[in-house]
Amino acid sequence: MSRIIDTKYVLPDTDDTRQIVIEAMEEARKVIPHGKVATYIPELGKADPSRFGVVLYGLTNSKICLGDYDVRFTMQSISKLINLCVALEMFGPDIVFSKVGAEPSGEAFNSLVELDTRSNKPFNPMVNSGAIAIVDLILPKVSFDKMLAFAKEICVDDEITLNHEVFESEMATCQRNKAIAYLLQSKGIVENDVDDVLELYTKLCALNVTAESLANFAKILASDGVCQLTGRRHISSQTARIVKTLMLTCGMYDGSGTFAVKVGIPTKSGVGGGLLAVSDKRAGIGVFSPSLDEQGNSIAGCEFLSRIAKKLKLTLFFDPEWEKITVYNNELG
Ligand code: GLN
Repeated sequence: MSRIIDTKYVLPDTDDTRQIVIEAMEEARKVIPHGKVATYIPELGKADPSRFGVVLYGLTNSKICLGDYDVRFTMQSISKLINLCVALEMFGPDIVFSKVGAEPSGEAFNSLVELDTRSNKPFNPMVNSGAIAIVDLILPKVSFDKMLAFAKEICVDDEITLNHEVFESEMATCQRNKAIAYLLQSKGIVENDVDDVLELYTKLCALNVTAESLANFAKILASDGVCQLTGRRHISSQTARIVKTLMLTCGMYDGSGTFAVKVGIPTKSGVGGGLLAVSDKRAGIGVFSPSLDEQGNSIAGCEFLSRIAKKLKLTLFFDPEWEKITVYNNELG
């Protein structure tokens, strides 16, 4: 286990760290009114935008939990990480990336036209088209129960359940995803029954998690697939590396480039308001705050991550001058 932790990089488990996290949350809370909860899935429109919870694990198992860290919400697009882990573990990267690309799309997460005109494969596994293709690949070999069991394992959370209300609500309004799936079928990428693929994809989006479950998963990714507490390997280091790389380049949809400059922590968002952020070899972070920016990313969550990235040096590319510069919602800096 100690092989993986480089003590130079370990997040200091001190009162100062906790104070920095508390202050970052207080500042981030101020931007909540600049965003909106998702309403295109009607059930998500009932979310309380004032909810805000964070969990931050250092890899030595130091743990900071604040605010609504144990409130349940649906994973939404963060489930794309689960689908991708399972696909990579089952099929390996050659088969997975014959179905889906690994390039940023520069498009909204549910874009359709560019998928038809610019490419015959979905751009990457972090947008809806890519995740639908991944679910199609694994469908013959998995069941919902098997995927749920894996989600519980990798999130170290036995309480994860299907949120039936959110699932039904999305199934009743998922015309865009249906269009994407049929388009992919016409291109020979989706090979199974479209309704079966969409049912599994949508159920996985509707898994109820907490900021703590996301931080657990993030911590395992940060330590290359191994749980530092138990020593158990959950996924290969190759799978962890591919997933983290795609989180950095594509995890925040058409906000990914800006987020990488401003925050520099591989992160995946979901329209339920979750963020799963991996500070490699340093920390696993889970955030819940359902008010979203225009790209569908948690607005306060992004602000929070930008602040702790600087102050706790969690970013991939630490710039010693950075603390003097701007906050997330201003220009690139
Ligand atoms: N279930 C959502 C959808 O397919 C997930 C999107 C998201 O979280 N960005 O539209």
